[in-house]
Amino acid sequence: MSSTKTIGIIGGGQLGQMMAISAIYMGHKVITLDPASDCPSSRVSEVIAAPYDDVDALRQLADCCDVLTYEFENVDADGLDAVIKDGQLPQGTELLRISQNRIFEKDFLSNKAQVTVAPYKVVTSSLDLEDIDLSKNYVLKTATGGYDGHGQKVITSAKDLEEANALANSAECVLEEFVNFDLEISVIVSGNGKDVTVFPVQENIHRNNILSKTIVPARISDRLADRAKAIAVKIAEQLNLSGTLCVEMFATADDIIVNEIAPRPHNSGHYSIEACDFSQFDTHILGVLGAPLPAINLHEPAVMLNVLGQHVEAAERYVTENPSAHLHMYGKLEAKHNRKMGHVTLFSNEPDNVVEFGKGIDF
Ligand code: AMP
Repeated sequence: MSSTKTIGIIGGGQLGQMMAISAIYMGHKVITLDPASDCPSSRVSEVIAAPYDDVDALRQLADCCDVLTYEFENVDADGLDAVIKDGQLPQGTELLRISQNRIFEKDFLSNKAQVTVAPYKVVTSSLDLEDIDLSKNYVLKTATGGYDGHGQKVITSAKDLEEANALANSAECVLEEFVNFDLEISVIVSGNGKDVTVFPVQENIHRNNILSKTIVPARISDRLADRAKAIAVKIAEQLNLSGTLCVEMFATADDIIVNEIAPRPHNSGHYSIEACDFSQFDTHILGVLGAPLPAINLHEPAVMLNVLGQHVEAAERYVTENPSAHLHMYGKLEAKHNRKMGHVTLFSNEPDNVVEFGKGIDF
């Protein structure tokens, strides 16, 4: 049997593109399904240009690939179930369904994986908000469709509660207690269906709810870092994980609280391309192919800066002045405001001195 596989990737954005690059290094062939024939992955793979929920296109992809994977979690799980053959989607559609809906996700995290999440309750209408104790703060999040802070309402006052009532009457939601965290962190873990491998803990700084800077290793105690990694491994084992998963968490003074999971490589793991001996994309491909997984070593402390549409010129200038910084551009044709166009990774022991692009200009 040939060790060269044809891998079908649903989604041809930067995550799909970087997965494809890893796969190609390993000798595999990649076919991408994306609505845009000029998507970032079109630079490195064949593209079937069709909407993600086009079942005929999904079937065409499934028919010409050995293995399927996806770059984002809002894939049509029913459509996939209708076309995949046994074992063709090692990540399975169950993990997709869990991460598509915060109610399923919270239930999985707290009851099945038994990791700590912020105290929460399911909200089906504003009636469920009637008796909340306003001496505490909360975040109300829609169960589906939210991303980068959309579909969320922080509640710290009676006035916020009024707006939250409207959100609660428009969609099913989860009400979480507000966590007074010190840092936001994440851990990348990859599995091959049997074993898992885990990356160092990442510290994440967001601006306007969009990741701006990742610092590795995160500036937390060794005890908390070990705990964060153990939590990520526990979740991966509970899932019999295949491929890469990112666990986003809050670090408080003495605890780690899980916020959410993303069943794919994640923006906060991009540093691993240069800073680790295997990247999150390499282990994703190895994992979905069921190959043995390497232990991960961090070569040196690293910082990753996101390059949004409004930062492209600043980033290009930065790397001409700092040629040892690694600039990645995804090949997106239009540099829209807040669109992720690329990222820069550099090695640094002084992460506070690595200034985010656009700081002081557009935050
Ligand atoms: P999410 O969509 O769940 O990743 O939330 C977006 C951002 O909102 C997170 O990165 C946090 O900065 C903030 N956030 C979400 N949930 C909470 C919470 N329970 N307590 C405090 N901040 C939160």
